[in-house]
Amino acid sequence: MTVEHAIVRTKPKPWGSLDLRPWSETSTSDGPIGELWFERPGLAAPKTTLLLKMLFTTEPLSIQVHPDDAFARSIGLANGKTEAWYIVSAIPGAGVAVGLNHPRSAAELRTAITDGSIADIVDWQPVHPGDVILIPAGTIHAIGAGIVLVEIQQHSDATFRLFDYGRARELHIDHAVAVATAGPRQIQSPSERLSGARTVLTVNSYFALEQTDLAPGSVWMLDAPKETWLLAIEGHAQLGSTRLAPGEAFFLEADHAEIEVGASGLKALLAYPGPKINPAALTERSAASASRAPHAFPGTLVPSPVETATLKQSETPNWLP
Ligand SMILES: [Zn+2]
Repeated sequence: MTVEHAIVRTKPKPWGSLDLRPWSETSTSDGPIGELWFERPGLAAPKTTLLLKMLFTTEPLSIQVHPDDAFARSIGLANGKTEAWYIVSAIPGAGVAVGLNHPRSAAELRTAITDGSIADIVDWQPVHPGDVILIPAGTIHAIGAGIVLVEIQQHSDATFRLFDYGRARELHIDHAVAVATAGPRQIQSPSERLSGARTVLTVNSYFALEQTDLAPGSVWMLDAPKETWLLAIEGHAQLGSTRLAPGEAFFLEADHAEIEVGASGLKALLAYPGPKINPAALTERSAASASRAPHAFPGTLVPSPVETATLKQSETPNWLP
């Protein structure tokens, strides 16, 4: 039974930012901060299945790839890494690279990593606030400069670097070639609106990521049978005696919490283990606002007609390998 206000750990990175406002007031006097990690408070807290981060980029990150579970275990790691990004802000022209522009052989990929031409054959695409990009394990990817994003991922630090823009960090060519899909990205299922308050941004074997848009003054019950993360993006709310503000997160497990939404509403991201959405994750409590939201979700764990329809619409499930 756990409801915790997550602590925030800062991670210095050469590509990070000296100004994290309004997301964090943390000091950057020791150099640029690239990542904020949301963690359970207390040294004794067990490791979580999912890792929630915010990233702040002023330079491109390395071009990299992550292994799947099978490969990770073959080299002694606990699990692989599938991740997803929610773009919070992006300067004009900012982009991310996902997959390669054309299929290549393993030999061609190795050559491209070795001579640095990998930077020219990854598939860059512009990004805008609200975009969601799923990066299944094995997908070659990079994040460009000028972006603030939220990342949800399998809890793993298994990263193989293919190219690092002249920075002196190590590359991992053999592992990268072994795990990478040397071709275009997988097709990603579109976001699906469950109700006025909930939109499933992506769901796969490892996690579900939802956007919640809660009306000003409304009251909700957040039900978290499994590990669940709630990160505020805009607006405010009260969870119990604690105020939730943008850039702050809560961790819940085998518990529930009442959310009293502030006067400007609450836009937040909700993440929990996959492969299924939890139809009962949010239930509106206040009768007055319930009548304004006729499609508030039923409070049951039994798959509802809406969930069944949602799953049927996903003709290309994005959790297929
Ligand atoms: Zn990555």
